[in-house]
Amino acid sequence: MLTISNLHAAYGKVEVLHGISLDVPKGQVVTLIGSNGAGKTTTMRAISGMIRPKEGTVSLNGKDVTGLDSHRIARAGLAHSPEGRRVFATMSVTDNLLLGAFPRFTRSRPRGDIRADLERALELFPRLKERQTQLAGTLSGGEQQMLAMARAVMLNPEVILLDEPSMGLAPILVDEVFRIIERLKARGVTMLLVEQFAAAALNVADYGYVLENGRIAVHGPAEKLKNDPAVQAAYLGGG
Ligand code: ATP
Repeated sequence: MLTISNLHAAYGKVEVLHGISLDVPKGQVVTLIGSNGAGKTTTMRAISGMIRPKEGTVSLNGKDVTGLDSHRIARAGLAHSPEGRRVFATMSVTDNLLLGAFPRFTRSRPRGDIRADLERALELFPRLKERQTQLAGTLSGGEQQMLAMARAVMLNPEVILLDEPSMGLAPILVDEVFRIIERLKARGVTMLLVEQFAAAALNVADYGYVLENGRIAVHGPAEKLKNDPAVQAAYLGGG
């Protein structure tokens, strides 16, 4: 589904990814774990075309999308829900969601039934359903984060990159975000997940990669990583 091979990325002259390879198989949830500054967000950006990799390849369903503009990568079926709350503040919740489906239009005809998908997205995010006409900028921080995630779902993508969907949320909303990830997984949605709550991420994931200083240090089935003493000590609060 999504295959990254020997990915290098830099900001200016400073290289922060030194050859990342990872695989996100269809229908699976894969999580990327690592300490602050390890390069998780940079990996997501290099995959989705927000930054151009220096070296390496990104392929989606066998198609090489390395270095394409982010809107072309979105059209190819990859949605990126970035870190932070990137919503269109002066537009309503519904309009933000409809914009998420925009890359599905070719020559003004959409792929699939966008109205039906809007209903499905609102079922998945009840807090947004109650606030469909509210301007996105007036939502609470947590609600805006959910809107960013729901907008990625509206692309009806092959793969969703979720970068810290629980960041800054109250505990009750963190639980809700993980429930939503579970439900997306049950629908067969393929996801690459970056999360500060590594234990919760490993619980929902099938497979995990540990990133250290821009390199993959360990990878394996999520169950195995959860029980790995070194991973526990470094990332799971000492187990
Ligand atoms: P966190 O968990 O703190 O979000 P991360 O693993 O997502 O960390 P990145 O955001 O990918 O880490 O950052 C990797 C490195 O690249 C860090 O050293 C960071 O300072 C640097 N970096 C990130 N964005 C930029 C930028 N726009 N310009 C220059 N350096 C950057």
